[in-house]
Amino acid sequence: MNKPILLSTPHIGDRELEFVQEAFDTNWIAPVGPHVDAFEQEFCQVIGAGHAAAVSSGTAALHLALRLVGVQPGDEVFCSTLTFIATANPITYLGATPVFIDSDRTSWNMNPELLRLELENRAPIGKLPKAVVLVHLYGQSADIEPILKICNHYDLPLIEDAAEALGATYKGRSPGTFGRIGIYSFNGNKIITTSGGGMLVADDSQLIAKARFLATQARDLAPHYQHSEIGYNYRLSNVLAGIGRGQLRVLSERVTARRRNFEIYQKALGSLPGIEFMPEASFGSATRWLTCLTIDPEAFGADREQVRLALAKEQIEARPVWKPLHLQPVFAECDCIGGAVAEDLFARGLCLPSGSNLTDQDLERVISAISSAGPNVPIEPVPWPPSTLGKTYAPVVDELARF
Ligand SMILES: *Cc1c(COP(=O)(O)O)cnc(C)c1O
Repeated sequence: MNKPILLSTPHIGDRELEFVQEAFDTNWIAPVGPHVDAFEQEFCQVIGAGHAAAVSSGTAALHLALRLVGVQPGDEVFCSTLTFIATANPITYLGATPVFIDSDRTSWNMNPELLRLELENRAPIGKLPKAVVLVHLYGQSADIEPILKICNHYDLPLIEDAAEALGATYKGRSPGTFGRIGIYSFNGNKIITTSGGGMLVADDSQLIAKARFLATQARDLAPHYQHSEIGYNYRLSNVLAGIGRGQLRVLSERVTARRRNFEIYQKALGSLPGIEFMPEASFGSATRWLTCLTIDPEAFGADREQVRLALAKEQIEARPVWKPLHLQPVFAECDCIGGAVAEDLFARGLCLPSGSNLTDQDLERVISAISSAGPNVPIEPVPWPPSTLGKTYAPVVDELARF
């Protein structure tokens, strides 16, 4: 029996246990403590953010972000449609309604032109949304500048969901640091993990102070427990922040490994009939958190689902590209601006095993399973490509060298 090859699994480095041990030795087993403070500071240095608050998940960070920009019951919030549901769920936690925006083909992320047109239509009739949530999908930044410009024009706060894009760049800077607030996730399948956790970043220190306040049950400054607002229990544990500090120190290695996976897959499979890999937009560097490709069933001779099932038979986990949120039963009543691009990427898109801990043998098994799933693939074996990638890839994470 072949060992299973999973989509994306945790990959622990050398230092995490040391930090966790320190938390135990000093009895800081709480949702506050020195690792939480240090993790926030180090995270800011790595991504070039002003201030950060460590929280219990990326979803919690988004919930706080929407609350901080004043989203209320009855509001509308614009949101990328091609994404994981956690991007939009917090909009509904606040009683607001998402309006989804389609992707463009260059980045698979929100189409700036569609956003501009829709805001232009709505401004004269007084139907502007309260905020815009922009996703950076699969480790690739959206085209942030035009989106930020449009948001600024209408005075709309931009919230960046960079849960999948830690370690990526947009014009040399980290996605997540351009909008009013950015969020990241350290779930077990993300590029680095704390088993579960998230981070909220902003240049405005007041916003981050307010985030910490709301994340700790909104306690007023009083010795007795007094509350003038409804808060949440959303802070990250000091033990998990210790894991995060260790993981930050290997972020650039993890990016290198995931980009290498992509390059090997693309070299081996990129010229097969009907196979196209997710493009890398010219404005930045993607982490290739997941390697994604699309399959044209006519040319390849098998569709995305047939390929996925053929891989599953070989104990290889692949997943369809996210089902667009406007197609989710739970959001059936919500509007979507456009939608055909996201629908097409969902119909034809497949995410391959992409962990930074995959071995060359694992990659070889995936490659051979995919090529044998396509009846139209030529019989001669797919050559195993030598990697030409250098050892280092660290546009954002040079700062880490200082640790
Ligand atoms: C993982 C993810 C989230 C949520 O993060 P959690 O830490 O799992 O709550 C939000 N948005 C996107 C795009 C994600 O991939």
